[in-house]
Amino acid sequence: MFDLEKLIRPNIKGLKPYQSARDEFSGLAEVSLDANENPFGFGLNRYPDANLTDLKKEFAAFRNVDSNRLIFGNGSDELIDLLIRAFCEPGQDRILIFPPTFGMYEVCGNINNVEVQKQNLNEDFQIDIESVKPKLNDSNLKLIFVCSPNNPTGNSIHRETILEITKNFDGIVVVDEAYSDFTDSSLVSEQIPNLIVIQTFSKAIGLAGIRLGVGIGNTEVIDVLNKVKPPYNVNALTQQKAIEALKRPDEIKKQVSILVEERKRMSQTLPTIEGIRRVYSSDTNFLLVEFDDAQEVYNTLAENGIVVRDRSKQVANTLRITVGTPEENDRLLSVLREENYSTSGRTGECLRSTSETQILVKINLDDPSNSHSNTGIPFFDHMLDQIARHGAIGLNIQTKGDLQIDPHHSIEDTALALGTAFDNALGERKGIERYGFLLPMDDSLTQVAIDFGGRPWLEWEADFKATHVGDMPTEMVSHFFKSFSDTARCNLNIKAEGDNDHHKIESIFKAFARALKMAVRKDESGVLPSTKGVL
Ligand code: PMP
Repeated sequence: MFDLEKLIRPNIKGLKPYQSARDEFSGLAEVSLDANENPFGFGLNRYPDANLTDLKKEFAAFRNVDSNRLIFGNGSDELIDLLIRAFCEPGQDRILIFPPTFGMYEVCGNINNVEVQKQNLNEDFQIDIESVKPKLNDSNLKLIFVCSPNNPTGNSIHRETILEITKNFDGIVVVDEAYSDFTDSSLVSEQIPNLIVIQTFSKAIGLAGIRLGVGIGNTEVIDVLNKVKPPYNVNALTQQKAIEALKRPDEIKKQVSILVEERKRMSQTLPTIEGIRRVYSSDTNFLLVEFDDAQEVYNTLAENGIVVRDRSKQVANTLRITVGTPEENDRLLSVLREENYSTSGRTGECLRSTSETQILVKINLDDPSNSHSNTGIPFFDHMLDQIARHGAIGLNIQTKGDLQIDPHHSIEDTALALGTAFDNALGERKGIERYGFLLPMDDSLTQVAIDFGGRPWLEWEADFKATHVGDMPTEMVSHFFKSFSDTARCNLNIKAEGDNDHHKIESIFKAFARALKMAVRKDESGVLPSTKGVL
């Protein structure tokens, strides 16, 4: 039988909790001279509401729970610690955890000198209930931590297993639902006396910076925790930000649904990449991925500015990859794919990062087998695909720019980065044809002549009737080529005529691609195509 009185540490049972100034007076204070605050200050001179009245009300509505069943902490990390301090006698009591799992349960146990008993998850990352049952009669086992969905494996623990544990155990079962918003299952509505669910504002609600966690459980258990917690553990700014977010449930849902979609896309795409052995199924906002050599992939990603978590010590050869924005995920995919590129041939790269854009361009002039462009501007991506296809070059472009302003910086900076990557790939420019020239057409007639002679120049003769084609401003077309010629150090002479702007622009990009293909082609001589001796 669950008996709270028997479970609480004797010193906590007898504890007279700290009475804050604001606890003692419940009327309407017109002049507050009770808490030794500075009456001037900077707008936050008063202690925050220690009872979290508004936050509790808002969260209770958000989750459809009774506000008496709530306790808030400075992150759910604080609640884990509070639970151990309230119920486990140091040097005597135990907690049970199921590795591989979230590291803080063990750390908090160790800090409090409370033994951490472990039973590994089985090969499906589930709890083997039959092996747990004999452990449940131990009167010194006070808390069982079940992380569901589990970090770092990503799967949910079967609901029936958790409920079975609560039935057969006289202590408290703590279910950590940090990631439950990324799946549809939660135990918050279960009114089980010895169950406490902890959740966090750091994941789905997107407020890791404010440090806020919440425990939802039996009112009597919550009262014990309230006795132990510091009086003002949730500060005023945190309360304010949390309330603001909880008032926008539709936006939270929208963000979660994008992340769930991206998780699906990533789980389908990653297994197609060589070197990836397995992508574990996930109910969270991260994926546990097994590689042939996780350490090497970790290093490659880090060299490319992408940081993931190496979890190989917990699950062999795995990295835990958080699901990011679609652009971030594309960038990760592109770096992972690049690992399998032929590195033979003339390659060039440019990583360009400013306050307006972050761009990664990788090109291979001699291997067109792998190309992908993602700039966030679909029509522009389509044009970059023309360069790759008709130029017969490998072209990988990831651009993350300030599209909320307009596409200008993204297009211009992509062109600059692309030009630099060309410049790098051409090296000393020995043994290239140097000149390219073509006259392709649809309903339009386009001429693009190019000279990789080492000097930038753009001659431009093309007008557009429309201001935009798709989401790309037409004025950015000449700007793209000007920027490219600046950093690729080439002359470009572009003329186009015709009626349909889409065709005209597309034929310019195609003709440019063909001109590029001709100009960068290796000739057999290996000599520098210039009498100056340098290009
Ligand atoms: N529980 C789990 C399972 C987690 O993965 C994390 C953070 N990674 C936490 C709790 C900590 O949450 P908080 O930021 O609220 O302390």
